[in-house]
Amino acid sequence: MKERIGLYPGTFDPPTRGHLDIIERAAKLCDFLVIGVAENRRKEPLFSLEERVSFLKQEIQDNLPLLKDQLIILPFSGLMVEFAVEQRAQIIFRGLRALADFEYEFQMAWMNTRLNGDIETIFLMASERYQFVSSRLIKEIACLGGNIHPFLSSRIAKALLERCQ
Ligand code: ADP
Repeated sequence: MKERIGLYPGTFDPPTRGHLDIIERAAKLCDFLVIGVAENRRKEPLFSLEERVSFLKQEIQDNLPLLKDQLIILPFSGLMVEFAVEQRAQIIFRGLRALADFEYEFQMAWMNTRLNGDIETIFLMASERYQFVSSRLIKEIACLGGNIHPFLSSRIAKALLERCQ
C-alpha cells in the first residue's frame, strides 16, 4: 500500500508546546511526517532558519523520542505546495486555534488546492490548553518580561529571553 506522507509546515519562530502537540497528533495520521520549517523572510523571524530547525530537532528528541524515526525536519523556502510535491506528501497538516486562524487558513487551503488539487489540507483543532499559545504572543510576553515557561521548553524559553535582551 502507498505510504501516507504528511507535511506540517510552519515558521516555528520559536516552536511552542502547541506546535509539538500538533506534531504528535499529525504523526498518528500518517506513516511519515515532514516538518517543514519555512524560511519566511517576510515575517522577519527572530530566530534564524538554522536555529528553528535545530530547536525542533532538540524538542522532538526530548519530548517525542518514540516518533523520531517517523519524523523529518527540513527547511524550505518558496511555495508550500511545491515543497509538498518534492517531499511526496499527499496531506498538509495545519493547526487551528479559535476563530482567529480560520480566515487565513481557509484562504491558504483553498489556494493550495487551486495550485495542486492532489494535496489535501487537514486541520487539527488546537488542544484546549494550547488554544491561546502563539509564537507571536510568546515573543511579545518574553520581551516585556512576562512568564513564558508554561508555553515553551526551558531550552527555548532561555534562548528567547536571551534574544530579547
Ligand atoms: P505560520 O507562519 O505558517 O502560521 P506558525 O509557526 O505560526 O507558522 O504555525 C504553524 C502552524 O501551527 C499553523 O497551522 C498554526 O495555526 C499552528 N499552530 C501554531 N500554534 C498552535 C497551537 N498553540 N495549537 C495548535 N496549532 C498551532
